[in-house]
Amino acid sequence: MRKIISQIAINGRLDKQSIHLPLLTPVVPPSAALLPYLERIDSARQYTNFGPLVIELEARLLRILQSHTRHPLHLVTVSSATLGLELALSALDLPAGSRILVPALTFVASMTSILRAGHIPVITDVDSASWLVTPDLAEHAAKASGAKAVLVVAAFGRSVDSAAWSAFQHATGIRVVIDAAGAYGSQWVDATDITVVYSMHATKSLAAGEGGLVVSGHAVTTHRIRQMSNFGINLGAVDDVPLGQLVWAGTNAKLSEFHAAVGLASLDMWEEQASTQHHLYLRYQSSLEARSPSALTWQAGPIPASPTLFCVRLGSAKRRDILEHLCAEAGIATRRWYQPLLHKHEALADHIYPLPVPEAEKIAADLLGLPFFSDMTEAQIELVSHTVYSAVTQ
Ligand SMILES: *Cc1c(COP(=O)(O)O)cnc(C)c1O
Repeated sequence: MRKIISQIAINGRLDKQSIHLPLLTPVVPPSAALLPYLERIDSARQYTNFGPLVIELEARLLRILQSHTRHPLHLVTVSSATLGLELALSALDLPAGSRILVPALTFVASMTSILRAGHIPVITDVDSASWLVTPDLAEHAAKASGAKAVLVVAAFGRSVDSAAWSAFQHATGIRVVIDAAGAYGSQWVDATDITVVYSMHATKSLAAGEGGLVVSGHAVTTHRIRQMSNFGINLGAVDDVPLGQLVWAGTNAKLSEFHAAVGLASLDMWEEQASTQHHLYLRYQSSLEARSPSALTWQAGPIPASPTLFCVRLGSAKRRDILEHLCAEAGIATRRWYQPLLHKHEALADHIYPLPVPEAEKIAADLLGLPFFSDMTEAQIELVSHTVYSAVTQ
């Protein structure tokens, strides 16, 4: 290891100080790119409550999402994907305490949003190749648990087949919501009857600092979620309740004009940024594959348009331990993404319905997230490749 580092340093491409590799660095527009938008806020003097920048961000996002489907879509911005998920699940109108399937291998917010919507997460296994829940797995898990809905997760930013999940909903009556928090730019909404939620958190593929987006082919659903994001106050003529009165006990999940400004500036640079991240991912993956042929397993399916994570399976828990150790020594950050698995959070054990999840357990045993950030140099990629090679050949 030492020898590799000094060799690279001698080549002059990587000095000792820059050897510390972070796990990720958020891609958020610089202040100069925000300025024109911030000046518009100064002039309009509207800072939140569906102001002109939020309306413009929603219109631009709608045009983009709409260009990928034949169905008319509707959307509403929210202050985070977590609140977007909570509201999307509430809008299903299921009886309190309903069981809702959620894959074991996902970010904790997938599960907390189910609990906060008043339901019971049923922890479900994932497919060994895609690392995602599939309609087959969901059907079996629903039979075993009596679940009324499934929160399908586009985990690691990998898109899921929205049309297939819509067909699943139609065939089984099990309601579907898609958590596409990390999959903006890859996950499309090719269905009229399911709700898809995206995140605009600083570390996700479209960064507004904090923020989220709820998309549906069903205008009543997004209208309802907009009301719920504004305390539950009736904003339109859909309900029997007079305008301005409460329809339901909502929350405050509105996106501010400042966050919309960052979101708009992010959209301005999105194509270029996505292309950089996508090509970096491909080069990085080939570098690891070339150095350690057939030792590594990758998540199946198309690589996201704008990946923000880089995860690989090492083939055994022992190899992963070795790699973590070598990386720590070399100043390379790593993370066991989405661990502990959802059912292993002890404090919530009494509030969930765990099913056996053998595939998720296997994946969790040897999965490791490696550094991934858009200005990663070839020398840094080389350093990670060498370190992975050292781990898999020990
Ligand atoms: C990031 C993430 C969330 C939460 O998104 P926020 O906008 O930060 O609330 C939910 N689910 C998944 C799968 C995520 O990756």
